[in-house]
Amino acid sequence: MDLILFGPPGAGKGTQAKRLTEMLSIPQISTGDMMRAERAIGSELGKKFDHFMSQGLLVPDDLVLSLFAQRLAQDDAKSGAIFDGYPRTATQAEALDDLLKSRERKIEKVVSIEVPLEEMIERAVGRRSCQDCGHVYHLRYNPPPSPDVCGACSGSLVQRKDDTEETVRTRFDEYLAKTAPLLDYYGKRNLVVPVNGVGELDLVTTRIKEAIGVS
Ligand code: AMP
Repeated sequence: MDLILFGPPGAGKGTQAKRLTEMLSIPQISTGDMMRAERAIGSELGKKFDHFMSQGLLVPDDLVLSLFAQRLAQDDAKSGAIFDGYPRTATQAEALDDLLKSRERKIEKVVSIEVPLEEMIERAVGRRSCQDCGHVYHLRYNPPPSPDVCGACSGSLVQRKDDTEETVRTRFDEYLAKTAPLLDYYGKRNLVVPVNGVGELDLVTTRIKEAIGVS
């Protein structure tokens, strides 16, 4: 199954994608995670990503497309994937269609996770993730045992550089201008299933499973 988790920053795409990978036995492909990993090792490519990410702007398509195509070609994604944070532009969506078509696959569903703007800002600003194991917390909704320490591995918790309120607002503007129009692109093919993203994590997971017809 090839599935897109769609939604604005802070909608919970990453958290829900991680839960679905186990249930569906397909990997999560998150271009944001891949870019952060590249940035963490300090590569030239990582520095280019950082220039845009730290301002809350989308990374230009040419840089994203090759990164994504390489990931999709990996063995674990040969029978499907959950796309989290990709595509974000019309060019990326067309490239995804072409890449899947060449493998005789196609997007089956676009799960659009809907959350009001003010809640998204609160979610993003309260988000903390473990530097070591990547576990994600929220100071209010899913708090770690102590604000700086990971409950899973005792690693240090950090706030993403682009999770400040100002940057989240820029990311939301980018979403509205460049990404939200994709709902039309997929809507014309009747692929979009809206899901209410407000509520407990388990409840949202259940809604997503219902929306994609998985029990
Ligand atoms: P995310 O972790 O998906 O919220 O992405 C964090 C940031 O990485 C975004 O605000 C962009 O700067 C960049 N990014 C991630 N995925 C993409 C993409 N598909 N296209 C352009 N920029 C991206």
